[in-house]
Amino acid sequence: MAYQALYRVWRPQTFADVVGQDVITQTLRNAVASNMTSHAYLFSGPRGTGKTSCAKILAKAVNCLNPQEGEPCNECEICQAANENRLNDVIEIDAASNNGVEEIRDIRDKVKYAPTEAKFKVYIIDEVHMLSQGAFNALLKTLEEPPANVMFILATTEPQKIPATIISRTQSFTFRRISRQDILDRMELILNDKQIEFDEEALNIIAASAEGGMRDALSILDQALSFGNDKLTLNNAQEVTGALSNEQIVSYMTAVAENNPADALTSLYNILASGRSAVRFTEMIIRVCRNMILYNSNSDLSDNMDSTIMTQEMLAIANKFDNDRLFYIVDQVSSAQKNLKNSNQTDVYMEILTVKISEPRIQSETPTASSEAAPVDNVQVDRLSDEVAKLKSELKNISANGVAARPAEKAKPKHKAQKVHLNKTAIYNVLGNATKADLSSARDIWPDVMNMLSVTQRAMMKVSEPVAASPDGMVMAFDYPMWFEQAQEDQDLLDSLTADVSKLLKKDYQIVMVPKEQWPVIRKEYIANNIDLDKNNDVKSKPEATKSDKAVDEAVNLFGEDNVDIKND
Ligand SMILES: [Zn+2]
Repeated sequence: MAYQALYRVWRPQTFADVVGQDVITQTLRNAVASNMTSHAYLFSGPRGTGKTSCAKILAKAVNCLNPQEGEPCNECEICQAANENRLNDVIEIDAASNNGVEEIRDIRDKVKYAPTEAKFKVYIIDEVHMLSQGAFNALLKTLEEPPANVMFILATTEPQKIPATIISRTQSFTFRRISRQDILDRMELILNDKQIEFDEEALNIIAASAEGGMRDALSILDQALSFGNDKLTLNNAQEVTGALSNEQIVSYMTAVAENNPADALTSLYNILASGRSAVRFTEMIIRVCRNMILYNSNSDLSDNMDSTIMTQEMLAIANKFDNDRLFYIVDQVSSAQKNLKNSNQTDVYMEILTVKISEPRIQSETPTASSEAAPVDNVQVDRLSDEVAKLKSELKNISANGVAARPAEKAKPKHKAQKVHLNKTAIYNVLGNATKADLSSARDIWPDVMNMLSVTQRAMMKVSEPVAASPDGMVMAFDYPMWFEQAQEDQDLLDSLTADVSKLLKKDYQIVMVPKEQWPVIRKEYIANNIDLDKNNDVKSKPEATKSDKAVDEAVNLFGEDNVDIKND
């Protein structure tokens, strides 16, 4: 005998067997027991929640020769014929394949004839929302004048597509998603019956992935079992569901927590190389973040945590995040998902996303509320708050004294890693000869430069763009200071960039990098001071600054360059 899918073999044969729809099955059983069944039912709800199973059981129960409290006996000849799909009076129609008017007219013609073997002629119309308008009209006629001893059971996943005139002539039941526990119990029952060993965790993963559909759960279980030796292992379940292994997600989230884009990218490549889909991966990140938020909220909410995800390792990682950052990650991942769904360059989007979320966040609007991604102790927070308050009042003074026409709009705590030197001389060099035409040709060749880089380098440079160019150099501004530092320190990257651009433009070329948040300040300084360069390209003299920029300079002198940020207008 050919292999039979689990969901067919284990299709419930009585109302009591149906999982997770107790109210519906109880109601139907009572109706059968008291001979109060309706001539038309509408079963709606998500796929795999028991609609067709209940329809079949109902068809059997109303015809059973020996029903027991509304349940079919499954032993009489009618029940047996129905179970073997050879009862002529139960007619199943899949509207997805029979959406024509003709088929329904055919029903109308034949519906007049009395059932041949059983008490009731039962029409089960699956996916009834797929019927054409004409077919619905024909069906409506039949429902308006139902012949005796005929029952219609309409099933659909999309009840909103069914005309109200039809719905009003049916008794309607809404099937709900089956709870994870119910699905787990059912799978466990089946595996125990088949004497198959299983890993609890594997069952959890399958139940989660089935999203409330029993048929899906059993199909996945089938596949996972076919993978290996009639034993259900965690690995097989992960393979079949495309779920990430625990090590994979732990390694990725660790790198994110530690603000380590390089490690996060490595982890991403491993995940993608193991055949995991990018979309599934993003769903997993969101689920992990959701659980971490529940955990970090330190309230009863943590009872709702998904224990399959929140392993001891994951709990430890959760401690490294605050909820602000987790919300930020969820935001970033959600917006990346939109791109992923419309793109065949999913890997690139995943790289950008990974870089973004594994970077320390840009300072938030209110400096005191700024959350450094790395854990900071209270002393440090207090110190930073004080520093910010001091900066604010000093800036106010400058502006009040009339010196500053344009005070700095925002003062920031010092970025924690400032070891990478900004090569201002080189930047001024480019600015000295910068033209719009050079910038536009730099931008023209940029996509080609990107293509010449390695995948990792490309991911790094994705968050940058050319902002100024001269005939022999360009300035690249980076969205995130951390990423600027990484790029600036990566000699291989600098070498490749220089070589690639020189090759494309057929001349020697210099690439200079700058964090985007500092770019307006640097440019302003340059323009204001009209800096003279001597032959050695060293800064020789700074002519008198204009009044407004003098204020900036003063602020810079006072607070140090990194603490003053002038917004570009
Ligand atoms: Zn029976």
